[in-house]
Amino acid sequence: MLENTLNNIRIVLVETSHPGNIGAAARAMKTMGLDDLVLIQPKDFPSQTATWRAAGASDVVEKARVFEDLSSALADCSLVVAASARQRRIPWPMLEPEESAVKALDFAQEGKVAFVFGREDRGLENEELQLCHYHSAIDGNEAYSVLNLAAAVQVFCYELRKNAVKRFSTESPKLSEGGERPCHLQNWDEQFSDHADMQRFYEHLEQVLVEIDFHDPENPRQLMTRLQRLFNRAHLDVMEMNILRGVLTAVQKLVKR
Ligand code: SAH
Repeated sequence: MLENTLNNIRIVLVETSHPGNIGAAARAMKTMGLDDLVLIQPKDFPSQTATWRAAGASDVVEKARVFEDLSSALADCSLVVAASARQRRIPWPMLEPEESAVKALDFAQEGKVAFVFGREDRGLENEELQLCHYHSAIDGNEAYSVLNLAAAVQVFCYELRKNAVKRFSTESPKLSEGGERPCHLQNWDEQFSDHADMQRFYEHLEQVLVEIDFHDPENPRQLMTRLQRLFNRAHLDVMEMNILRGVLTAVQKLVKR
């Protein structure tokens, strides 16, 4: 159903400085039918300014959850998209905002999805961007294409609603009752791994690479970033993840012999 699917999509704001932007983001969400707002170390929150700027969406501000770090806020998500205006040194898979919305709706029919937005002054850090499957940029004026934070949230929420309405109005009644799995997951036998599984996997992988002297944490040379990008691109399911964890454990046993 449209509402249930949109309810599975979380908007995450990282270290927002201005509480007005939190309120405006909440309003952008509610007008499009989203209500799961998560804040990572906001500078000034709770705040009357946030509530005022939210207008009729003050309920979204009131039930916003605050987390200490981004990774914990993403733990249960099987798809994470970063909204980012800039291309970084190590290029990451990119989606147009509309493409990211369509993909998000696929995943949100079965689990949690997050869209991550950065700080007003300096956006998202590389380590934060690397936690995400995709990056998505709103194409704008070449001379200046940085949107206000809440305006960027509005663009993504609009794409989500527009595509959700399109999808649910054209679906057969059986599909919208939840009788079948969404198209990209049809014939797929396993659930996709969530963010927390993936983080445990990366820790295990790094540990093994150190044990077999392949990786020197003192001189990392982007190794873990590149491996993270590789496995994010593959979008592992739970069975594939368990196989890889099993291989890592077998390697460790061999090394310890
Ligand atoms: N000065 C920052 C931009 C901050 S704008 C920088 O150089 O990165 C605050 C946030 O709004 C960004 O981190 C991003 O999540 C979102 N945003 C702003 N403009 C955007 C755009 N054109 N495309 C995608 N996201 C954008």
